[in-house]
Amino acid sequence: MSLFALTLHEASEKLRRREISSVELTEAVLQRIAATDDRVRAYLTLARDSAMEQAKQADARLASGQPSSPLLGVPLAVKDNFLTQGLRTTCASKILGDFMPPYDATAVAKLRAAGAVIVGKTNLDEFAMGSSAENSAFFPTCNPWNLQRIPGGSSGGSAAAVAADQCIAALGTDTGGSIRQPAACCGVVGLKPTYGRVSRYGIIAFASSMDQVGPMTKDTRDSALLLQALAGHDPADSTSSNHAVADYSAALTGEVKNLRIGVPKEYFVGGMQPEVEKSVREAIRQFEQAGAKIEEISLPHTEYAVAVYYIVATAEASSNLARYDGMRFGHRADAKDLTETYMISRDEGFGSEVKRRIMLGTYVLSAGYYDAYYLKAQRVRRLIKEDFDNAFKRCDVIVTPTAPTTAFKIGEKTSDPLQMYLSDIYTISINLAGLPALSLPCGLDNNNLPIGLQIIGKHFDEATVLRVADSYEQETNWHNQKPKL
Ligand code: GLN
Repeated sequence: MSLFALTLHEASEKLRRREISSVELTEAVLQRIAATDDRVRAYLTLARDSAMEQAKQADARLASGQPSSPLLGVPLAVKDNFLTQGLRTTCASKILGDFMPPYDATAVAKLRAAGAVIVGKTNLDEFAMGSSAENSAFFPTCNPWNLQRIPGGSSGGSAAAVAADQCIAALGTDTGGSIRQPAACCGVVGLKPTYGRVSRYGIIAFASSMDQVGPMTKDTRDSALLLQALAGHDPADSTSSNHAVADYSAALTGEVKNLRIGVPKEYFVGGMQPEVEKSVREAIRQFEQAGAKIEEISLPHTEYAVAVYYIVATAEASSNLARYDGMRFGHRADAKDLTETYMISRDEGFGSEVKRRIMLGTYVLSAGYYDAYYLKAQRVRRLIKEDFDNAFKRCDVIVTPTAPTTAFKIGEKTSDPLQMYLSDIYTISINLAGLPALSLPCGLDNNNLPIGLQIIGKHFDEATVLRVADSYEQETNWHNQKPKL
């Protein structure tokens, strides 16, 4: 088996037993990137030299035999909206251009402290706004399963890189589905933790009340390992939580007997691709056979989620993106005075989806419309959260499809933003409610494209979500399917 195809837990074990070195593993991954990324285009920036340097240091630490993190010496990829000190960070926007961050995001600092090797920065929709990676200001990423298809978004580069074995695992961010939907499209495991579980410090802000960092991996065991390294309170992020961090690997008992699984009736209505419904229903049957109790539940405010999200997220984005004024960093236009410098820098620097969101967000926050849109949306957001609170009185996890369809064709939805927004119809409510949720592969459609199963948990109960996902992997083989590249 080629080294680049290893999972994180396999690679970690081989490194620890000194069967392989981090230098060998990192070289194998870099070669895999060289052999495939002209087709997949997952990476915006590669960090060959620093990666090889980190691999050498990891080998020295491994040789010392000191206790260490399972990430030590493992090559990982990072979405390009995490600040990485001394490594170009663009957020796939021209407005950041060749921005060189002076410090690391906390999540990245934790990976570095654990001894992980950072191989590069992956492509995304500009400012993480999108569901297809086509909104990147640089180039679209292709789905390794079918290069004419989108990899999902916004963490499309990370999902494609994991699926194509161009890294052992990756980091993504999820504001409305951006870890889970691309994970589903590319046939990998993507976990959005509870809001506040992982520090947002040093993540380029999109919608701060929903943004969350999470692992994108080849299987659930890897997801548990990576979450372990990321989770915890950070004094630099006042919204990060003090809640105790569980032992996620220890939670993977394979046991789902008597577990109560909720299936929301509102998630199985028109518009879903029939093969998606079939695979998800099959997975639910599988859980039942393993001894879980299936409960039909209702999340009555589901139909408002997309509308509420596109008010709250755009409002927060319009405020967060006010800082890109061409003054302290990023693109600055040549203009005659200060106001023109602001205006032209922003006009030249932002792409059309980002401008659309800034305009929508400014509108819903403006005097006269605030009550009718923003305030109303916040009230409905509360109702959506209460739907989940009520449902979780009757069940331990909720199971749904991750996305209504498998990966669509590049270009298919670019002219219709509303169609694009509907890709997140099953993931968005979870961000509004701040809950943890994971997507894992549960089938292939007639075009041989991966289908994602979403498992939603109670606040801070990532352990149960991971346990359920892992138990499914133990009974099935979908997570081992790979694209032919
Ligand atoms: N696709 C959604 C959007 O465009 C979610 C993006 C995300 O989670 N970052 O806003």
